[in-house]
Amino acid sequence: MTEEFNYLRRILLDFDHGVELLGEKTEPVDPGLVELLKSPSKRLSVQFPVKMDNGTLEIFRGYRVQHSKLYEPTKGGIRYSPDVDLSVITALAMDMTLKCRVVDLPFGGAKGGVICNPREMSPDELERMTRRYTFEISSMIGPDSDVPAPDIGTGPKEMGIIFDTYKMFNQKAPDAYAVVTGKPLSLGGCRARLEATAQGGAYVLEEAVKQGCARGLTSLKDATVIVQGFGNVGFHTANILHKDYGCKIIGISDSKGGIYNPKGFSPSDVLKYKTDEKNEKKSVIGYEARNTLAIDEFLTKECDILVPAAKETQIVGSIADDIKTKVILELANGPTTNLADKILFEKDVYLIPDILANTGGVTVSYCEWLQNKEGTQWETDIVNNILREKMTTAYRDLVFTVKSYDVTTREGAYILATSRAIQVIKDRGIFP
Ligand code: GLU
Repeated sequence: MTEEFNYLRRILLDFDHGVELLGEKTEPVDPGLVELLKSPSKRLSVQFPVKMDNGTLEIFRGYRVQHSKLYEPTKGGIRYSPDVDLSVITALAMDMTLKCRVVDLPFGGAKGGVICNPREMSPDELERMTRRYTFEISSMIGPDSDVPAPDIGTGPKEMGIIFDTYKMFNQKAPDAYAVVTGKPLSLGGCRARLEATAQGGAYVLEEAVKQGCARGLTSLKDATVIVQGFGNVGFHTANILHKDYGCKIIGISDSKGGIYNPKGFSPSDVLKYKTDEKNEKKSVIGYEARNTLAIDEFLTKECDILVPAAKETQIVGSIADDIKTKVILELANGPTTNLADKILFEKDVYLIPDILANTGGVTVSYCEWLQNKEGTQWETDIVNNILREKMTTAYRDLVFTVKSYDVTTREGAYILATSRAIQVIKDRGIFP
């Protein structure tokens, strides 16, 4: 098997494979429908100037892709990163279509991004860039057409700016708050949204352990966990698993490397260290200097649960052989290559695939969008009860699909997403 590193090609391969498995069991899927589901519906590429603090003009490139309009609005985050390009954003938009079908939300899939390094930009530069980008994609976004959200490099602050910019041009829109989710609470944000991806992942993991799927892991108490990535998702996952489930967080990494200690870390202490103004690198590295590891060595340390929570294409074939974990909980989008998938399956690692595991964020975004439409703000318990219900139902649907088709969890998730998407198209029919 050759290893595919390109994320878009990988997701299309997984999709085709899911369709094939689906067709073997039921009737073959109409090739036209397959092509429709693989083709992004609308892709916008923009270039725009931003005045930098030193008076110079810099030209930025950004994108917004609406993958499928099975349901509207389409939904998906906005990524600020030097790694962004049209191919990655298209893959991530397709990913959102699949995720919304797995967790059964009435949204289509979308994604956006700007090629930039937010860590090297001042708050004022980021604000000007966000306002101009919002303006550039304004023909696409709207409470009933396409609703952005946070992703890598963006958060509540940027979502507040997107709302404000949209509102300037749509003064009379009665439901303007619903144009974007992941906003600050003061602007119609939703309680529990910030930690939602992590919390959703924890609910699925808990259910997998309860159902006896987690390769002999019978309890999360004292289970050892390695978390790759220490942004919003990575930190909250480590924190929730540590505080609410009694897990031992023995490894934490970021883009600069990892720290590892079998005695375990306090995630909030590590975060304090990372964000301290004296820590110029803004990294977890050096928290316990003697326990610093390069990323490949870090990922292959023995643990019960490995959580990739950074970005795509991290667990590759060359590392997979040495990975020593019982469970992988994919909280990043597309972290594992198809070759690594195969190796891990043969090693009997239990994989909770991304298109289910990390849907907590968009699920609570759905809660936020509904509240904005209704003009209300729900209590944390209400949101988390909905989140738990949605995540555990989707997990049970996955377990059922895996059993009925006798496939891997990745294949099962694709079968589930694909069959549901095809059903929507069949029910709607094709215009004209
Ligand atoms: N960016 C997040 C994701 O990849 C959230 C998307 C949303 O809430 O719309 O799932």
